[in-house]
Amino acid sequence: MSNEIFLRRTKQLRPLAVGFFVMIVGSVLTFGPMTGAFRPARAETYLSLVIAGIIVTLGSLTWLCLRITCPRCGAKILWWAISRPDNAGWLNTLERSDCPSCSYAPDVPRDN
Ligand SMILES: [Zn+2]
Repeated sequence: MSNEIFLRRTKQLRPLAVGFFVMIVGSVLTFGPMTGAFRPARAETYLSLVIAGIIVTLGSLTWLCLRITCPRCGAKILWWAISRPDNAGWLNTLERSDCPSCSYAPDVPRDN
């Protein structure tokens, strides 16, 4: 299983999934009222939902960028993947089997 992705090797798939799920919830809060998927009765509620959704989405993205790291060099893997203008395949970066910064490839954990 030497081609196991780095995020699984370092047991960071679950935090990544949780962060993406929270981002989806935040996006629904933000764009749901805009698209008419649900329409709150009061304008204040509408505005509160949109602002809360933006805060939840950006907060979750920030948390993910700080949380998904290389245990050896400390590189912030998600931030590394999305912040480089020359890195068109940011999803490919998340699917690598080693750290994109230092090439560290830990052993596959036995209990995961
Ligand atoms: Zn590294």
